[in-house]
Amino acid sequence: MDIKIKNATLSLIQGDITLQETDAVVNAANTRLAGGAGVDGAIHATGGPSIMAECRKIGGCPTGQAVITAGGNLKARFVIHTVGPVYQGGGSGEAAQLKSAYLESLKLASARGLKSLAFPAISTGVYAYPLEEAARIALMTVMDYIGEHSDLELVRFVLFSRKMYDIFAGELKKLIQQPEQ
Ligand code: ADP
Repeated sequence: MDIKIKNATLSLIQGDITLQETDAVVNAANTRLAGGAGVDGAIHATGGPSIMAECRKIGGCPTGQAVITAGGNLKARFVIHTVGPVYQGGGSGEAAQLKSAYLESLKLASARGLKSLAFPAISTGVYAYPLEEAARIALMTVMDYIGEHSDLELVRFVLFSRKMYDIFAGELKKLIQQPEQ
C-alpha cells in the first residue's frame, strides 16, 4: 500500500528489511548497540562485521535516540540504529520514546541528505509494544514529518509478517480517513 504526502511516498510492504535498496535502513537496536535477535541480528548477519565494529566505536545509544553507520554488505548505504522502548505497561513514557525513535531516525536521514529510508516496526518484537498503538505512532510520526520536510522522497515500512502488514495497513486507512481538523 502506497500513499503520497506532498512530494513523498509513504509505503507499506511485507518483507525483509535486510533486502531493501533504500539509502538507509533503520535497525531496532538496543542501548548498548550490542546486536541481538530479530531485526538487529538479521542486519548484522547480512551486513557483516564492519557494522558492529562501527557500533563499538560509537559505544551506545539512549532509548529514543538514533546513530548512523555505514551499511556494510547491505544494499542500503547506511544503517540508522535507533532504540525503541521496552514496553512496561504504557505508564513509563513509552509512547513518547517510540515517537522519538522514529523522529530522530528521520532527522538523521535528513541531516545526511538521504532520500529514502526503510523502517521495521520498532519495539513490536522482543520489546513487546502493543501492535496497533505502535503502528499508529509509527505512521503518525512519519506522516507528520514528511508533510513538513520536502527532502525525503520515500519512507517504507517493511513489515515482516502478514499480520503486522495488515495492522499497519488498517491503522493507515484509519488515519487517512480522518477528516481534516
Ligand atoms: P524490538 O526489540 O525493537 O522489539 P525486534 O527485532 O524484536 O525489535 O522486532 C521488531 C519487529 O521487526 C518485529 O515486528 C519483528 O517481527 C520484525 N522483524 C524481525 N526480523 C525482521 C526483518 N528481517 N525484517 C523486517 N522486520 C523484521
